[in-house]
Amino acid sequence: MRIFDTTLRDGEQTPGVSLSLEEKLAIAMQLDKLGIDIMEAGFPIASAGENGAVLEIAKAGLDAQICGLSRVIKADIDACLDCDVGMVHTFVSTSDVQRIHTIGKSREEVVDLAVDAVQYIKDHGRTCMFSAMDATRTDVDYLIEICKAVEAVGCDIINVPDTVGVMVPSAMYRLIEELKRSVSLPLDVHCHNDYGLAVANSIAAVEAGATQVQVTINGLGERAGNADLAETVMILHTIQGARTNIKTEYLFETSRMVEQYSGVRVSQLMPVVGENAFAHESGIHTHGVLVCTDTFEPGVMTPEMVGQKRRIVLGKHAGKHAVKQAIELAGFVTNEEQLVEVLGRIKELGDKGKPVTDADLYAITESILGEVSGKEQFIDLMEVSVMTGNIITPTASVKAIVGGDMKVVANIGVGPVDAALNAVRNLLGEGGKIRLHDFKLEAISGGSDALAEVTIAVEDESGRIVSAGAAREDIVLASVEALVNAINRLIMLRGKV
Ligand code: MN
Repeated sequence: MRIFDTTLRDGEQTPGVSLSLEEKLAIAMQLDKLGIDIMEAGFPIASAGENGAVLEIAKAGLDAQICGLSRVIKADIDACLDCDVGMVHTFVSTSDVQRIHTIGKSREEVVDLAVDAVQYIKDHGRTCMFSAMDATRTDVDYLIEICKAVEAVGCDIINVPDTVGVMVPSAMYRLIEELKRSVSLPLDVHCHNDYGLAVANSIAAVEAGATQVQVTINGLGERAGNADLAETVMILHTIQGARTNIKTEYLFETSRMVEQYSGVRVSQLMPVVGENAFAHESGIHTHGVLVCTDTFEPGVMTPEMVGQKRRIVLGKHAGKHAVKQAIELAGFVTNEEQLVEVLGRIKELGDKGKPVTDADLYAITESILGEVSGKEQFIDLMEVSVMTGNIITPTASVKAIVGGDMKVVANIGVGPVDAALNAVRNLLGEGGKIRLHDFKLEAISGGSDALAEVTIAVEDESGRIVSAGAAREDIVLASVEALVNAINRLIMLRGKV
């Protein structure tokens, strides 16, 4: 099974998304590390920037085959050839609706254009993929006719695009089956997600004999996007028993990189790479998962396989087993009665609609155990000041007692919050490598004087994650306090366990 990634082409056509050359190159390297077979780097004729990006990616010495997109026009193909791509992907509308309203050519003229384009690409010694755009709304006899015509002039592979996402899996299965009877070239599919069926249709096409699928990271793409790479690959590997060259342990980090560069947030409910994909809160589920993870997870797909971590989330649905495990991991020892009390307080907090952080759990446990905290905080914050504006680089300075020593540090950032958080991290010096794992900001009530509630999770080098929160009218102070709370809790845990 071959994986054709079009994050940098169709994915970049996501409304509102535009990637810089540096971002495209970084994504290209990550896709290569992930193990995709073919990378559609862009549409070189579209703009000088697009052309430059395809050229740079083609020169980068990646293992993946690099593909450029072209219409069935000589100038488009020449632009691809000039970028020195190994594969040219040429497309033309074959459905009546697109043929009549967008290019105004007869069916015969379209066949001639396609044949000439494929011939021209093959004359230049490149791999050629032909796409019958809007194939799934094209008259099937005509679709077969054009596929046979390009096959006769040496086309290497045919792509069947569900350009406007109107297929259902059973129809996709029948179409691919029918094409396979008439055309002997390998078949590829490109499915759109207008009805949420892009992945399902891709899988149906594979079941019917397609040997290549087009996907994007995070399902990016035009309108509702394309088939998501992570979902498609995990179904192929763990349910279908198919093989691809994807190193699935890099799926999560690849998703996060593309999320950051594209600015399109990944839903927490997204399969495989979403924050909740391996998270459990309800008592029945967490109990099951703590005994045997297969009870309330697919089993054949584990968080480790995709570079994720299993998370037990505390909240109003929490059960005793999850709370017991969380507080034991933090080094607290409670008896049954105290445990029930901790659980009750967590449910109370959850019922108020509050996220329950690790810091909350520890504070509750300490108060029930009668332990005094706050006395030996590792970082004792004294002063925070921030300068920001449009003529200076946002800069923050922080004064604090750290492990008994007074420290004053400063740092810059992209904005005041970033600068302040960078400064706080400087307090730890070289030795304390702590990574910001998660940052959530919520404004409670509507005005500009709204209470800002910040939840931060930090991770140390051993992979231990601790979350903490703070609420204030000042967004910078709320962020700094939350970070200091989380770091203090993390350091306290290290001393304890
Ligand atoms: Mn598309």
